[in-house]
Amino acid sequence: AMYESKNNKIKGFRFYEPHQFSNLSDSMDFERAIKRNEFVLHYQPKFKLDSSLHGVEALIRWQLPNGKLLMPDKFIPQVEENGMIHEIGNWIIKTSLIQLRSWLDQGLPPVVMGINISPKQFQQNGWVDLIIECTKSLEIPPELIELEITEGVLMDHNPRTLEMLNRLKMSGIKLSLDDFGTQFSTFSYLRDYAFDILKIDRSFTKDIEKDEKSRIIIESILTLAHRLGLAVTAEGVETEAQLSFLKGMSCEYLQGFYFSKPEAAETITEMLTNYVSS
Ligand code: C2E
Ligand code: CA
Ligand code: CA
Ligand code: CA
Repeated sequence: AMYESKNNKIKGFRFYEPHQFSNLSDSMDFERAIKRNEFVLHYQPKFKLDSSLHGVEALIRWQLPNGKLLMPDKFIPQVEENGMIHEIGNWIIKTSLIQLRSWLDQGLPPVVMGINISPKQFQQNGWVDLIIECTKSLEIPPELIELEITEGVLMDHNPRTLEMLNRLKMSGIKLSLDDFGTQFSTFSYLRDYAFDILKIDRSFTKDIEKDEKSRIIIESILTLAHRLGLAVTAEGVETEAQLSFLKGMSCEYLQGFYFSKPEAAETITEMLTNYVSS
């Protein structure tokens, strides 16, 4: 309560009026959000071809004091801009790995934890140390960690980025190239960086039924990835038809609303518990 009144003085009372949250980026108090634990991770399951559970992807939400759940598109760009992404990114790493440890401690089936890393996080390297440290101190098998990295970070061919990715790779952590096909995909990224998984963007999955070109692109991506020894995840699977097309193409991992939306940790715990008993 102390903190709240102090905050009100600084930011003004308008801060707590619900309509203020929708558009004013300067009313987004990220410091408060961290201190008061307003960020929360939801987890979206990923399945294997045989429909068994493979892992989850951690996706951040912001539980505002007015009860509204703010989606990442609404605040990740700001925290990337103002530099808070480093602190929030570290919180995401710690929270998701502690969650994974907790599931393992409960004797639940091991799942791979997917963590999104913003290109901006590559401007510093503390998070790499943090992940490697957490893996050791929490005794998490490194192959249960999959970092989802978008190709934006690879564009400038920065040797430091390569070094960071190599360190992670050497530690046994899996690397996934996220949103593949949407930005400036060049084949050299697949040649020069040691990715384990390629993640096909939802924009291709979405059009499988109606657009032959999308189907051809997905087929080509899968053939290329498989020949290079990479596994493929398709995101945004919403329909039976999309699923059967992707299965027919031996796409290793599948994720999307057809299976499950991102859910709170407790819901995933239940899901994993039912898995054990069934
Ligand atoms: P992304 O990494 O491409 O994540 C997939 C987004 O697609 C998620 O939205 C997910 O809820 C949504 N999605 C998954 N399956 C389906 C589907 O079948 N249909 C539809 N229509 N949507 C689906 P979300 O959670 O709003 O996240 C949006 C983006 O925000 C993410 O895109 C990612 O770029 C970023 N983001 C989310 N969490 C984090 C985080 O912890 N760290 C960082 N750096 N970025 C994050
Ligand atoms: Ca992702
Ligand atoms: Ca994605
Ligand atoms: Ca995407």
